[in-house]
Formats: sequence, structure tokens, C-alpha cells
Amino acid sequence: MSLSVTFLGTGGSVPNKFRNLPSVLLRRGPELLLFDCGEGTQKQFLQAKAGTNRKMRIFISHLHGDHMFGLPGMLHSLSFMGRTRELEIIGPTGIVQFVKSVNRTVRLYSRFPISVREVSAGRVVNDPEYEVRAAWGKHGIPCLAYALQEKPKSGKFDPVKARRLGIPEGPLWKRLQKFPVITFKGRRILSRSVVGPPRRGLKLTYAVDTRPCREVTRLATGSDLLIHDSCFDESAAKKARDYGHSTASEAAYVAKKAKVGKLALFHISAMYEDPRPLLKEARRVFPHTILCTDMETVHISP
Ligand SMILES: [Zn+2]
Ligand SMILES: [Zn+2]
Repeated sequence: MSLSVTFLGTGGSVPNKFRNLPSVLLRRGPELLLFDCGEGTQKQFLQAKAGTNRKMRIFISHLHGDHMFGLPGMLHSLSFMGRTRELEIIGPTGIVQFVKSVNRTVRLYSRFPISVREVSAGRVVNDPEYEVRAAWGKHGIPCLAYALQEKPKSGKFDPVKARRLGIPEGPLWKRLQKFPVITFKGRRILSRSVVGPPRRGLKLTYAVDTRPCREVTRLATGSDLLIHDSCFDESAAKKARDYGHSTASEAAYVAKKAKVGKLALFHISAMYEDPRPLLKEARRVFPHTILCTDMETVHISP
């Protein structure tokens, strides 16, 4: 199963005419995982045609408005569009209070259950097929980076080999994928003779609004895709330091150190109408860098 990542908003702090506020939609099979929900995310989400009633989790990095002012609108609209399934919201301390106070003041009249959970560094989701871990970034307020790591998948089943061994299609094929050895007509058949080696799971890390730091580098290690704060170019390095952000080349050093497959520059300051210099600076350090426009989709496969 490949992962598809749609950048709903790639700007930061304030939008400009080219970039919306931060939000990344990860589609994993039928499930949706949304990282941050800046104002206007609901419109981008609709445009992405992601579906409104799927299993869905929203991860909020921190409680700066550009990352979460889109939540009330999103919840309101999902309800209008007929969502009935539970939706889980995960974020740092304060997220429960935020959702509660919105509900108290504007009455969301949500037609679906909303569960809100405050988390800290460590494992925050343990799904049968993947886990999500969080680590603290280095920003003005507590800010979490998240990494989704798929659990190893079983090896590929080879039907040609199975037939050659005289094993008929049906429940025996399933058993061969489940058990290391089966007995068929008095013969012992090893699973590994028809099933390939286990396949590694994919990994994606989302780290915004952070200075380059050890915790995030460690969290991101081995990711297929790292989405990292790249607010500024090198000429604004002081600004990046002062406001708890990273330059594009700092993000590239993190990517290099963490040995990731690909780096996506993200949370681009509204002061850049043309962000190409950021890409150029980053690629000097880490060539496998991309800079997506809003609504662009990237596929990650093994
Ligand atoms: Zn921000
Ligand atoms: Zn922030």
C-alpha cells in the first residue's frame, strides 16, 4: 500500500496569494490522517476529494493560530456534509480546552463523536498497521513533531511457486502466509518457499515550527519523506533563530543527518512570492529536496 501526501497548505504564519496555511493530508488506504489544520483547510480538503466519512485522525502540532484556526470550520462542515464516524483529534496540552471552548461558545452541533486527546513525546497512536510517535520540537511554545511508521508487512506471496509445488488455491494459500510451515498430503511445506521476506513499512515525519534539533532528527531518522519547517532562506537566518523556525538549508542538514529518502520544504514564509532560492539552498546540502505548491500530491512507495 502506498502513502499519498497532499499538501493542502504550505505557507506559514499568514497566507499569501500563493500559499494557504499549514495542513498536510495523508491518505493511507481508506484512512485519512491530517497534520495541522490552518484556517481555510476545509476548502482545500474538499478540493482534494478525500471523502468526509472515512476513518480519520487530526494531529495538531501546537497551539499557534496558523496551525489550528481551521479546526472549528472543519468540524462544522464535516457535520453538515453528513459525517457520522468518530473523529479523533490529537495535540499538545490545551487542545482539549480549545475544542471545548469553541463548542461552548458557538455550539458545533456535531453529528459525529469527536474525541480529543492531549499527548506528549512518545508513542501517541498504536494501530494494528502503524504507529505514530511524537517528539518535542524547539519553538516558542510546546510544539510536537509527528512520525508515522508502518509496521513491517508480510512478504509477497508467489502463486506461481505455490502451484508448482502442487498446492491448490484456497485456504492452504492463506495458511502458508500465516504460519512458517504447513503439512499438505504428508509433506512439510515451508512458508518461505512461497512467501518472500517481510517488507519494511513506510515512514513519514511532519516537523513544523521548529529550529533544527536532536529530538526531531532522531524522530525523523530513516523516514521516506520528511516534511520540515523551512520558513526562511539563509539571508533571514537570524529571523529563523529569533522566531523558532528553520531555514531551508537547516532543514536540509536535518534531512541529511536523519538519512531520509526525501525532504519537503514546508511552512514557507509569506514574504516569498518566488520560493525557488529556498529550494536551491536546500538542494546544495540535500539534493533530494522538493518544494510543493498547495494541492500537490506526492506518493511514497517502498
Ligand atoms: Zn506556524
Ligand atoms: Zn508556531
